[in-house]
Amino acid sequence: MKAKSVLVIGAGMGGITAAAHLARSGLQVTVVEKNASPGGRCGRFSRAGHHFDTGPTLFVMPLLYEAEFHALGTSLHDRLHLLRVDPTYHLVFDDGSQLALTADMTSMQQQLEALQPGSFQGLRRYLQEGEQHYRLVLEGLVNRDFRKASQFFSLRNLPLFLRLRPFLNHYRHMAAFFTEPRLKSAFTFQDIYTGLSPFEAPATFSMLPFTELAHGVFYPQGGMYQVVESLTDLASQAGVEFLFNSPVEHIELHAARTRGVRLADGSRLEADVVLANADLPYVYQQLLPPDRMARTLSHKRFSCSTISFFWGLDQPYPSLGPHTLFLADDYQRNFESIDRHLSLPANPSLYLHAPARLDPTMAPPGQDTLTAIIPVGHLSQNGDQDWDQLRRLARSHVFRRLRSLGITDLQDHLVFEETLTPPAWRQRYNLVKGSTHGLSHRLTQMGYLRPPNRHPRYHNLYFVGASTHPGTGLPTAMVSGRLVATRILDELGS
Ligand SMILES: Cc1cc2nc3c(=O)[nH]c(=O)nc-3n(C[C@H](O)[C@H](O)[C@H](O)COP(=O)(O)OP(=O)(O)OC[C@H]3O[C@@H](n4cnc5c(N)ncnc54)[C@H](O)[C@@H]3O)c2cc1C
Repeated sequence: MKAKSVLVIGAGMGGITAAAHLARSGLQVTVVEKNASPGGRCGRFSRAGHHFDTGPTLFVMPLLYEAEFHALGTSLHDRLHLLRVDPTYHLVFDDGSQLALTADMTSMQQQLEALQPGSFQGLRRYLQEGEQHYRLVLEGLVNRDFRKASQFFSLRNLPLFLRLRPFLNHYRHMAAFFTEPRLKSAFTFQDIYTGLSPFEAPATFSMLPFTELAHGVFYPQGGMYQVVESLTDLASQAGVEFLFNSPVEHIELHAARTRGVRLADGSRLEADVVLANADLPYVYQQLLPPDRMARTLSHKRFSCSTISFFWGLDQPYPSLGPHTLFLADDYQRNFESIDRHLSLPANPSLYLHAPARLDPTMAPPGQDTLTAIIPVGHLSQNGDQDWDQLRRLARSHVFRRLRSLGITDLQDHLVFEETLTPPAWRQRYNLVKGSTHGLSHRLTQMGYLRPPNRHPRYHNLYFVGASTHPGTGLPTAMVSGRLVATRILDELGS
């Protein structure tokens, strides 16, 4: 009997993972990708011997990656050479004080006690709570597939949800552990990875600082793009066919089913199942006929975007650690300007990544490679944001911040500069509103309340990736890929 066929729209992490699982189970799988290479938001570019990861730079939740590589019949550690990054971050505050987040608890104790006497005990308690949240979230939310409302809204889940403290505001809850605002910031800024401000996020997200300190933050030698290459190899070896430079223009429908897709060049590809990895709101709004869901999605909360700078430098800056984070004192206003005013904060928090500190091959000998990421609001509905001006402002903030670390000559040593702004994120990957993390993870957009992995009407049309279940992040995209592949196989009766 001929194997059933699956067409995957998009070669992002979720799409590649699902494709690999499906092909390993004997299905005939084709991935059609608009761009010239796989990876989607986990992208890469190289110029004049400088190598940049354009999206993710932090390999967090290693246990999740291990489990997902294992589910694909391989070992993460055989595939990637991982270096532990410790200290994970160098935090720099407005008054010049610094904090190196490290798994070395003696150093943490000394640093924390200097900022707020007695606070190390607070950290211990906070990490204990984070551990509990981490375990409950993974078992109860991330690794589960909510196909029916009753699987989510069940009495059995009630104790789980209560223990996750979903109604407790993360930042306000920090008062139970620390009085010092710098410490409250140091252990909540990670919420932005889920597209949420700590002033909006549930206390559940203490799981993020916990996993960073307890399980570690890593760096794959050669950069984050190695994860994409390794998965793409796995998928190709399992028989997946990749078609690059092939944007899908339309999902073809007949009665209550999809029959395949039409590409921008007019050609048609047929399949028994279509799995959309392109950003879910974009798929509803651009690849399917207009419907209520498409309209509903435009009113959902989207995560922030970024202005990202990629700099090739003709000399090294060894004093810059691999991950430096400048955290602004006006922390709450920072998030408000991003979330509510969809803009660049007046004194933005920002992140610098110097990959050559971890892997010297990321820059030519005697030179340096630097990425600066400044979180900003996503694209507004009325297009009133002046991105050129905001880009210039963001750039001057990075140089100002660097001066506070004694680095005053970076501009004189720029060999080249590349920039990504929200319109570029939208254009490159079809991300609705240029939102880099897709739909945000507020309470009403999580679990069963997140757009599901299967279309409610066209039952052979599925979704995978950041804006569907379980949500944003590389390892999460791999979980999404495995869950949806399992569902497709169940529903095909394979
Ligand atoms: C700046 C930034 C920093 C980040 N940092 C981290 C981090 O440190 N750690 C971490 O774990 N995560 C991080 N993330 C999040 C992570 O990158 C994403 O959650 C993850 O890569 C999303 O994968 P996805 O499967 O949803 O697919 P996507 O990456 O969205 O891929 C979807 C693919 O579909 C393609 N596509 C779109 N439309 C079409 C079409 N019409 N036809 C054909 N193909 C199409 C796109 O080109 C793309 O390749 C970061 C993201 C960004 C942007």
